[in-house]
Amino acid sequence: SEARVYRDACEKRPQEYWDYEQSVVIKWGKISNYEIINKIGRGKYSEVFSGECIINPEDHHHHQQQQQHEKQQPCVIKVLKPVKMKKIYRELKILMNLTGGPNVISLLDIVQDQSSKIPALIFEEVKNMDFRQLYPTFKLPDLQYYFTQLLIALNYCHSMGIMHRDVKPQNVMIDPKEKKLRLIDWGLAEFYHPGVDYNVRVASRYHKGPELLVNLNQYDYSLDLWSVGCMLAAIVFKREPFFKGSSNADQLVKIAAVLGTKELLSYLNKYGLRLPSEYDNIMRDFIRRPWDHFTGSYTNLAVPEMIDLIDNLLRYDHQERLTAQEAMDHPFFKANYESNSDESNQN
Ligand code: ATP
Repeated sequence: SEARVYRDACEKRPQEYWDYEQSVVIKWGKISNYEIINKIGRGKYSEVFSGECIINPEDHHHHQQQQQHEKQQPCVIKVLKPVKMKKIYRELKILMNLTGGPNVISLLDIVQDQSSKIPALIFEEVKNMDFRQLYPTFKLPDLQYYFTQLLIALNYCHSMGIMHRDVKPQNVMIDPKEKKLRLIDWGLAEFYHPGVDYNVRVASRYHKGPELLVNLNQYDYSLDLWSVGCMLAAIVFKREPFFKGSSNADQLVKIAAVLGTKELLSYLNKYGLRLPSEYDNIMRDFIRRPWDHFTGSYTNLAVPEMIDLIDNLLRYDHQERLTAQEAMDHPFFKANYESNSDESNQN
């Protein structure tokens, strides 16, 4: 199985673009330019702080009125935990390749602690509002706007030969005041090469695509579009997360309970796979649920175009899913919901 789009995105670029084990040249910045203010997040692979960056440190000694000249700029400091250097190089190379791209978090600098030698990545800061507060306020025009922004980021990284592999609300920073969206956490991202077997232990459980759960190793960019489908379905059907598995195996059971078991088996059949034995005692024969099963009268977001969009993202068969570009071109994003959104919210 190969990607339908951007198949040769890496191969058409010079080897140093994608060969992160050979070609990462780190230009270390000065750690003294940064000051930690407080901790804002803790992941599996890092501790994240909000901080300040001192711009023009050179000026420091030359200007008498240094207080006025010295500018502080907010930033985010991601201190990596000790993991394999290979993983650090991959995240760095990918960030260096994508920085400056649309709606991709910008890497500003890389510094290293003197004693521990642990690298820290300096990023632009997004004044993120927690998705649990923000998403419930979304009306259709907000979904059109923010999901277009997310798809722009994904279409860009895919066109650059990179799969994100961890798309989820926690990795989509949104500053609603500035209407700014940035895709963060490129720690699981990987270069796409046709025919390569990838590790299926990526993404977080609720956003793992079926390909990961049935050990289909030759997946591609379309994995990220499944995760987008999960995010949209959760918002539209007011069920966060939409597929809430209690384990990786149960995750596929939860998916089958919506998309059907027969449909799962024909997906497996198409790619010459069998349901892994771990499902022997837990998979049941589910009948596919029509989407209107989830559209109670309480949700005004489930307009026909939205249902069609979700339906075309949440496909078992990764080759059937819309690509990021196709999703952006979907009728949902062309419709005008501005006038009716107020009205329908009173129902
Ligand atoms: P995980 O194990 O959850 O994947 P991680 O160790 O890979 O996390 P990140 O996901 O990059 O680290 O960052 C952890 C958290 O820090 C994010 O979920 C977010 O809340 C916060 N964060 C990271 N970068 C930024 C940023 N640029 N602006 C604002 N907040 C950020």
